[in-house]
Amino acid sequence: MSKDRPTIFALSSGRPPAAIAVVRLCGPRAGRALEKLIGRVPEPRHAALARVRNPADGETIDEALALWFPAPRSETGEDMAELQLHGGQAVIGAVLGALGRIEGCRPAEPGEFTRRAFINGRLDLTEVEGLADLIAAETPAQRRQAFRQLKGLIGDQAEAWRRQIVEALALVEARIDFADEADVPEDLIAPALGAAQQLRNTIATALADGGRGVRLRDGLVIAIAGPPNAGKSTLLNRLARREAAIVSPYPGTTRDVIEVHLDLGGYPVTLLDTAGIRASADPVEQEGIRRATARAAAADLVLWVIDSRSAEPAPVDIPESQVKTEYWLVHNKIDLVGDKLWINCESQSAAYDKEFAISAATGAGIEALIGALLGYARDYFAATESVLVTRARHRNALEETVAALDRALGQGASGHEELIAEELRAAATTLGRLTGRVDVEDILDVIFRDFCIGK
Ligand code: GDP
Repeated sequence: MSKDRPTIFALSSGRPPAAIAVVRLCGPRAGRALEKLIGRVPEPRHAALARVRNPADGETIDEALALWFPAPRSETGEDMAELQLHGGQAVIGAVLGALGRIEGCRPAEPGEFTRRAFINGRLDLTEVEGLADLIAAETPAQRRQAFRQLKGLIGDQAEAWRRQIVEALALVEARIDFADEADVPEDLIAPALGAAQQLRNTIATALADGGRGVRLRDGLVIAIAGPPNAGKSTLLNRLARREAAIVSPYPGTTRDVIEVHLDLGGYPVTLLDTAGIRASADPVEQEGIRRATARAAAADLVLWVIDSRSAEPAPVDIPESQVKTEYWLVHNKIDLVGDKLWINCESQSAAYDKEFAISAATGAGIEALIGALLGYARDYFAATESVLVTRARHRNALEETVAALDRALGQGASGHEELIAEELRAAATTLGRLTGRVDVEDILDVIFRDFCIGK
């Protein structure tokens, strides 16, 4: 660890004003900075009450709790200090200003603390991602998954697999390097390929979760679709209100798709309102409709809402490629049809997995629909406690590993030893990239970019 490395500091707690503000420092001058601000370095890992003074003129800025975490037993592996200040704008401004004037100290960039923890070997890449997910987690299931990843679930597994590949590779290389020597057994290739085969099957099993881990991270996508004025927006509002747990409502990428994030029985769900999918001559509107349709078609579940008074058949056009998407038919506005039979399009009903009759306006039938949605989410995520793969990046790396192992296995026991070795090396490299053990500079920026400053 270089002594010239800048000491970084940042406000690590939320936006002021707040009761408490946490300012963290990390780097070789962290102790020196504490001395300048509070006149001493507290006992390691013990909270100390201290006057914080401006080193320039000695003026007291605040009274704070100070903590000192000397290297290497700190989150980043470097010297770290923490000040728990009163969370006012002026207090924070004065402290950050004073820190900025200390030689060798500068404000941290987004994710820089975590980046140092990675560089110093305190976290592997999957753990870094788990940390990002934990900070972003909106539902209990997401929190549990992120925490397991932060604690090294996939990282440790990938590292164990990588070691097994390296062992198999060592057998093949021994065969290549010492082919002529009498005391090297003839048959090293077959056991190497046997190990590769077993590993290949294990990784393929981990991959065969149908993307549930990724979904748990990003949320199950439920689209509310149907003709204009069927009551889609009303239904969305009712579902959102009933759950009373809208995590972050924000407009979608187009004006035509509204997204609402829900916590449905602990599981993350993104509700899409593809309001007004209809024929239009306006090219801008057409583009919006195209996007809304595409987004709905990629959903896990489509609630196709129709007005129960309308005799028009439900025009669901289920694309062949989207066989995974479930379609539920929702007859809305049953409050307007009295005792009349609301199923007026039975011939179409067969195309749907489930059927409901509701009034989005009065709430009739909503309980049954929500119950079914809960059941759907629960079934969908049932197996996620054991899910390993939570990001497309992990999935890609593991798929590449399996492909490389397949190529090695394709050589067979009588195959080219050099080619087998080459593919095993490629398999080990892709696994190493997963945890960040090899040439990851290019992906580092992508991963750390998502972090907030002070983390
Ligand atoms: P969207 O275009 O599919 O999003 O439809 P809206 O949610 O905007 O609803 C269209 C109209 O139908 C509005 O005037 C709603 O108040 C009304 N509406 C929606 N659901 C019901 C319902 O269950 N019963 C009745 N009576 N009116 C409803």
